[in-house]
Amino acid sequence: MTDIHLCQPDACKSCAACCGIYNYVENTRGALERRFHFRTGLFSRVRDNRMSMEDYREVVRHRENAKRIYTTIYTCEFVGFLDEARRRVGCMLHPSGNNGDDLRVKSFYGREICDGHFCPSYQKLENHEVKILLAALDDWYLYGAVITDIDFVKTFFHVAQNRVGETLDPRKFVNRPELLDIVRRYCGLKTAWPFSDTGRPRFGKYYFVGEEYDIARIDYEALCAEPSPYDAVFASLSSSFQNKDELDRANLVIHDLIGDLCNAYTADDR
Ligand code: SF4
Ligand code: SF4
Repeated sequence: MTDIHLCQPDACKSCAACCGIYNYVENTRGALERRFHFRTGLFSRVRDNRMSMEDYREVVRHRENAKRIYTTIYTCEFVGFLDEARRRVGCMLHPSGNNGDDLRVKSFYGREICDGHFCPSYQKLENHEVKILLAALDDWYLYGAVITDIDFVKTFFHVAQNRVGETLDPRKFVNRPELLDIVRRYCGLKTAWPFSDTGRPRFGKYYFVGEEYDIARIDYEALCAEPSPYDAVFASLSSSFQNKDELDRANLVIHDLIGDLCNAYTADDR
């Protein structure tokens, strides 16, 4: 369990995953950035009373591709940039951006649900894991994708900690760019994984057929291979392997990254 505010942790990143941002079919960083830049400009007109909330909705409906990966998960039209530098994404209806007025009453979920929702990461992640991720990541897109993927985070820490024989200490990451770089490279696999299953709608380990979804499991028997210790990571990365050679290469990528982290982490102890 963590007591760190995962949604808006600092000035250079934030998360809006539960508002549905990764559920758009067009969910690349560039596509979402364009969407949020446009909305942020448009919503400033609502704040200045130059546009009604209904007209805002209508323009967004007209201008945006609303196609979703999983149709029953809502994608909220009120996610935009929250700061001048446009580094933090989040709810433009929140009272902090509207002189104390809580405009979430106008939202699809309503004020109470939006205000009271804390995703499972708050329960499952631990402070040391969050602190290390916060130190390594400085962009909203990757941060939101990683902080909400419990398997992806937990497996990395679990394997590394088993290897070094202790809980990774965030203080050891301070002023250690080489350590933070390894964590960043691991997280970066979220956007640059060569074994991603592009053949069907996927959301991490889930795949979708219309309204139905199921977990996409890797068939190790068909690959004539032993189950990977990184199976949960592969599922998080929406992996699909054509043959054992691909699986071996994927294992090596994760193995090497965690090995590099462990070596750098314990370098001073030798
Ligand atoms: S998914 Fe979790 S961390 Fe992200 S905005 Fe929602 S509650 Fe906050
Ligand atoms: S209204 Fe609710 S769902 Fe929409 S952006 Fe705000 S918090 Fe997210």
